[in-house]
Amino acid sequence: MIYDPNNIFARILRKEIPANVVYEDDFALAFYDLYPKAPVHALVIPKGEYISFYDFSEKASPEFMKGFYKAVQKTIDILDVKDQGFRVLSNHGQNGGQEVPHFHLHILGGRLLGKLVQPA
Ligand code: 5GP
Repeated sequence: MIYDPNNIFARILRKEIPANVVYEDDFALAFYDLYPKAPVHALVIPKGEYISFYDFSEKASPEFMKGFYKAVQKTIDILDVKDQGFRVLSNHGQNGGQEVPHFHLHILGGRLLGKLVQPA
């Protein structure tokens, strides 16, 4: 699969589309999900052309991964969800339910989230 440079998150990174930014640095941009599934729902995306969790894991350098995960941690601090608890998840591909083909982590919190998936 080839990275689509016109996916919605690439356009948000290029500031072509507005986003409600939580945190930004050289490695990542974090912003609120437009259709929140919890009282707190933010997305953290790397500043690089990575399609999915697997793509990022395969291609990103250790230094970039470290910077990205530090940015995730800073976002969690800003969202102030650490003490009450939160969920981090990433959807990969069709069965994972991935809609936007630019790697992103969801950070969800602000209420009891319940079970992650329905029984098989
Ligand atoms: P996925 O299903 O790919 O894991 O998650 C994509 C997420 O992006 C969804 O939760 C959806 O609500 C969110 N989303 C889709 N379009 C936009 C947008 O234009 N702006 C923002 N902030 N979020 C979006």
